[in-house]
Amino acid sequence: MEKLLKGIVEFREKDYYEHEELFHTLGKEQNPHTLFIGCSDSRIVPNLITKTLPGELFMIRNIANIVPLYREADEFLATTSAIEYAIQVLNVDNIIVCGHSNCGGCASLYLDEDAFLKIPHTNKWLDLARPIKAKVEQQLIGRNIAAREWLTEQINIVEQMKHLLSYPFIKSKYKNKEITIYGWYYIIETGEIFNYNIEKGFFEQVEV
Ligand SMILES: [Zn+2]
Repeated sequence: MEKLLKGIVEFREKDYYEHEELFHTLGKEQNPHTLFIGCSDSRIVPNLITKTLPGELFMIRNIANIVPLYREADEFLATTSAIEYAIQVLNVDNIIVCGHSNCGGCASLYLDEDAFLKIPHTNKWLDLARPIKAKVEQQLIGRNIAAREWLTEQINIVEQMKHLLSYPFIKSKYKNKEITIYGWYYIIETGEIFNYNIEKGFFEQVEV
């Protein structure tokens, strides 16, 4: 905790002043351009990996960066209300679903029921992603666990992108090209991000 408290003081005395004007403006309103849906994993730091500042990314973090289908919207309100607010109130231009390597949430899809005795809420949450297993098995050649891991993480991203389109207000904006949906795969150990090319159907490294 000491580390965090020192951090608060250091932020206030140093970093805050670097962007003092920005913070003053943000004190009155937010106008983020992007809804970032990422995993809760502590190794994912959206502002760091995109070099963005406060006020740019409206964020949803949950286990395995899952987007409940619209029909499940009344049940998983923490995620669905934030999606609704970002689109309907904040009018973001982009939605990013960002998955990552070595995702514990995705790996948990392959655990036995017993493993969830202590974590029943996690178990229920992961039900939303369990249909992905069948898709992975269709594409998986052999029993290579590493291949299964990255395939699950990547297929999960693509599926969650599709789930976004089950929301009527996203679908209409997407059709009218008022919103863009991205799927990113972040590799923790290399710092690389691969973007899902919807037309080609695979992930390619982000270059500018
Ligand atoms: Zn994760």
